Amino acid sequence: MYFSRKRLMVDLPEEMTSLWSCTNELCNGWMRDNFVFSVQPVCGQCNSLMEKGEKMLTIVANTSPNQTKR
Ligand SMILES: [Zn+2]
Repeated sequence: MYFSRKRLMVDLPEEMTSLWSCTNELCNGWMRDNFVFSVQPVCGQCNSLMEKGEKMLTIVANTSPNQTKR
């Protein structure tokens, strides 16, 4: 059983999330894959092409009123 992959420093749940990131090195734009509706999205900030990748992201919980300090 593999339940020990959590990092000790992080108590917010994270998961590997598919996302698109901007190919422009000067831009840090990215978007979650499930917010993308076209086959080849372009960056909303600089109109560069985006490439698909994965990243550990906190599971979206920004509507929570419980803003605890880290
Ligand atoms: Zn960009």
